[in-house]
Amino acid sequence: MNPVDLITRTRDGEALSTDEIAFLVRGITTGEIPDYQAAAWCMAVYFNGLIPRELADLTLAMAHSGDTVDLHDTVKFAVDKHSTGGVGDKTTLVVEPLVASCGVPVGKMSGRGLGFSGGTIDKLESIPGMRLSLSLPEFKRQLREVGLVLTGQSADLAPADGKLYALRDVTGTVQSIPLIASSVMSKKIAGGAQAIVLDVKVGRGAFMETLPEARALARAMVGIGKLVKRRTIALLSDMNQPLGCAVGNALEVREAIDTLQNGGPADFREHCLTVATHLLLLARKAKTPAAARRLLTAALADGRAWAKFRQFVSAQGGDVAVIDHPERLPAAKYVEVVRAPRSGVVKQVDAREVGLAAVDLGAGRHKKSDAIDYAVGFVIHHKVGDRVAKGDPLFTVHANDKVRLKQARERVAAAHVIGARAEPLPLFYGVIR
Ligand code: URA
Repeated sequence: MNPVDLITRTRDGEALSTDEIAFLVRGITTGEIPDYQAAAWCMAVYFNGLIPRELADLTLAMAHSGDTVDLHDTVKFAVDKHSTGGVGDKTTLVVEPLVASCGVPVGKMSGRGLGFSGGTIDKLESIPGMRLSLSLPEFKRQLREVGLVLTGQSADLAPADGKLYALRDVTGTVQSIPLIASSVMSKKIAGGAQAIVLDVKVGRGAFMETLPEARALARAMVGIGKLVKRRTIALLSDMNQPLGCAVGNALEVREAIDTLQNGGPADFREHCLTVATHLLLLARKAKTPAAARRLLTAALADGRAWAKFRQFVSAQGGDVAVIDHPERLPAAKYVEVVRAPRSGVVKQVDAREVGLAAVDLGAGRHKKSDAIDYAVGFVIHHKVGDRVAKGDPLFTVHANDKVRLKQARERVAAAHVIGARAEPLPLFYGVIR
């Protein structure tokens, strides 16, 4: 088989066979198919999509590009959640320890930042010492002993997604339903969780800007979940404005720590409680949403969720003294508060603009080889629907470079629209089962 021929056929809207897709995924994984051909094929998929059979073939080939974990010999029932990517979305950092602290094991494979959206692995790497490329035996051992484990793609687990994910990040090929669905679900299949809650983001700061697109992505992923017999549901959640207040790796870790210690921004806490409620219900740990919520709020209030996070950080080599004293996390040289230019009601905080400004500050990548600056980002002080008075703090910029600070300040100021009236945005738009 010839990669050029396969790229050309996808470019021309022709379906590839199961064997041809397996050939592409194998070649991308081993490196026999170079980055430029892999990226060209992603662009062809971006424009032409895949038929459902090709999507299933691609997802399964990516899931089986490394080992697939069978957790039946490790824990009775493991769950996982996955977001399709947003701005300020540090949900995993709270939901996973929270659910694990209620006695439901969580094993997760996460990604790095993608385009304007942040990634859990980058966020966790802001904690010195964290090891986030675990081997399969390490993954299983920690799941058994701690009940919570989180790894990035390694040579062992879904390596094809690791390669494609890094390429898509820097080649304008992120926003594609089949590429997102196969990326997310290949990791979920390889990671072995028996129940999965998908958090499908919709809006300006999501890869799916409209509800019909988000629904189509959710249905595609839930369909793959069914195919491989995993209990899978998808929540459709708002991503027009950043989730919570913090955007940027170490800043988001700090906000997650606050939330795990029973504080945190109200919208973010509520979002986490809803996602975690669905996980407990899928794991049959609670019979009703109200019962699940009682378990979860108790675990936040009595310190069990926080204790589980500490145990997880320690098990993966992270410096617990740093999370106990979050002021020791990477901190930026320049911290500047930007104030509201007029009184009124916040009508818009454009999440995409905030995400792009964070990438420009150094919180994400423009090229595959770019290093992340963990310290930089923003704290957004208001939500859509909030009343502000002229001179109130609107957002805070954390930067390590004065020129970039100025550019970021202007971009994020322009992302805020203050008007006469605006309703608060909903957190969720629905559930796909
Ligand atoms: N999350 C993933 O794991 N992959 C994507 O393509 C988008 C979000």
